[in-house]
Amino acid sequence: MGSKVETREVIIVGSGAAGLTAAIYAARANLSPLLFEGAQPGGQLTITTDVENYPGFEDAILGPDLMKRMRVQAGRFGTEFVTHPVESVNLRMKPIEVLAHGTRYTTKSLIIATGAEAKLLGLASEARLMGHGVSACATCDGFFFKNQRVLVVGGGDTAMEEAQFLTKFASDVTIVHRRDELRASKIMQDRARANPKISFIWDSIVEEVLDPAQGKVTGVKLRNLKTDVITTLGAEGLFIGIGHSPNTKLFQGQLELLPSGYIKTYGGTQTSVPGVFAAGDVQDSTYRQAVTAAGSGCMAALDAERYLEDLKHQTHTLPPAVSAGHEKASAK
Ligand code: NAP
Repeated sequence: MGSKVETREVIIVGSGAAGLTAAIYAARANLSPLLFEGAQPGGQLTITTDVENYPGFEDAILGPDLMKRMRVQAGRFGTEFVTHPVESVNLRMKPIEVLAHGTRYTTKSLIIATGAEAKLLGLASEARLMGHGVSACATCDGFFFKNQRVLVVGGGDTAMEEAQFLTKFASDVTIVHRRDELRASKIMQDRARANPKISFIWDSIVEEVLDPAQGKVTGVKLRNLKTDVITTLGAEGLFIGIGHSPNTKLFQGQLELLPSGYIKTYGGTQTSVPGVFAAGDVQDSTYRQAVTAAGSGCMAALDAERYLEDLKHQTHTLPPAVSAGHEKASAK
């Protein structure tokens, strides 16, 4: 690893609602946090428009504005920001090592707040038309589809929520699902089924998004998985609502993950590695809200603070025991 700098009390990876809230709390606790902003500074909220459910903003606030305010607030109390991406971490070491832009940073505690990102179908035509009629965020892009036909892929709560939201703008919304049974919660299913603008196409997958040659969405080719029949359906928008993947690549093999890929936490934000805490969407596949992410960022900072306090009272160094515990946990 490259040049080494002074060991920090806490390093935070990620600058969404979880990471910035952790930074606000850690900074106010005099822990002088160093925060790596990641590939999408501000996180998922920077690609949304009106946020109407973040408490304290009765008239709604734009996602990017909310994140800007959180960043300023974290900076006001002394958070240091690093814009270079983290290249690797070594959670087996004590202090923990973080490598970014040729510099080796070391820290007594680490808060992982790397968030999650929308899953996509993986089609070449989908990639070509992303941002040109294909989207994975109805809240961000629904507005562009006034009186147009849109399709939503997926059968879970995300797809139902996206479809419901899109009916505010679109002339009609068709949910395309690969089975004949929805995975979504009953209440979300009932709402979607009751909405006169929403219809369903069952047992079908999108084979191709049309039409990359025109640089815009004109429809999709669908394959019925039961009959194998391929049909073409016209639409101006395609929303992918098939779930999210947590951003855990940096940590894989080094701490315990759930089968879904999310980081497993114990009694709050503690991960399977002592001194490493996880907050926000990277450990939460259920709530995934700005306010819950912020809440868990606060919890992670408090947990890190207590961990650091405990470390001060320990008379011996920890590495062998910590490493052994970690090996056991990650082997599960
Ligand atoms: P999910 O429950 O995992 O559902 C994903 C859906 O996409 C499933 O119906 C799945 O089909 C389908 N799918 C996955 N990969 C696909 C592919 N490659 N091609 C076509 N279809 C594909 O994910 P989610 O809807 O994002 O929900 C995740 C969690 O967040 C859930 O716990 C949910 O309750 C929660 N959530 C809650 C709310 C809310 O309460 N407001 C809103 C959003 C999410 P199969 O069913 O065939 O597997």
